[in-house]
Amino acid sequence: MTSVYEPSRALSAKIGRRLTQWRAAQPVKIAPNQPILSITFDDFPASVVRHGLPVLAAAEVRATVYACAGLQDADSLYGPMFSKSDLAAVQNEGHEIGCHSHSHLDCAKAAPAMVLNDCARNAESLGALGLKAPPRNMAYPYGETSFALKQALASRFTTARGILPGLNIGWSDRLQLRAVSLYGEHAHRLVSPWLARAAARQAWLILFTHDVAPKPSRFGTTPKALADTIQNAKDLGFAVLPVGEAADHVLKALP
Ligand SMILES: [Zn+2]
Repeated sequence: MTSVYEPSRALSAKIGRRLTQWRAAQPVKIAPNQPILSITFDDFPASVVRHGLPVLAAAEVRATVYACAGLQDADSLYGPMFSKSDLAAVQNEGHEIGCHSHSHLDCAKAAPAMVLNDCARNAESLGALGLKAPPRNMAYPYGETSFALKQALASRFTTARGILPGLNIGWSDRLQLRAVSLYGEHAHRLVSPWLARAAARQAWLILFTHDVAPKPSRFGTTPKALADTIQNAKDLGFAVLPVGEAADHVLKALP
């Protein structure tokens, strides 16, 4: 891949993003009785299976992989993307497959109906590849969304996740959960203050990354950083759960 699409970095786009973040489409109160960590992988590079799943299995935790069916078997800056057998491996080990749209579109620029169609197409394609149940949780490609889209997705998904950093605690928008990147070989050191803060506040922390490899892309991490992050979370008393199970847990805590 020679060029990578990037959403607008113009000031007006930044302000729009901020307003969207603060305009909750589906406010929920998140009040877990212990800190929760969800580890998520976007786009689904094949290296998640090769280098990520063994780490998760050794730690006896499960994660969420947000898949784009349109990227199946493609080449990318994260290396080769997932194949049919990778999808089976993730599913067989009890991890959650979430939706990341079919075509990895910029959801802030597309009409909500188009995004809904794209997500329906993703569920259909993943189903044809062997996914047993349609995804219940979504991650916005590039973290981009709009208030209208969040409203439109409310009946389709339990949660949708962005990429604006923060803890999920107290009044939150279930259609724009916050998440912190797990990037680079020093990812563990970079996220450890977030883990400490989430532990102190009994919050739900969602981490996102892409590929997992000894030499990852700048949007991925290493097996060691992943393992160290999970161990740190366990030492701090976190429950490590896929997004869907965490959502079931915290949404039950609604008053
Ligand atoms: Zn993505």
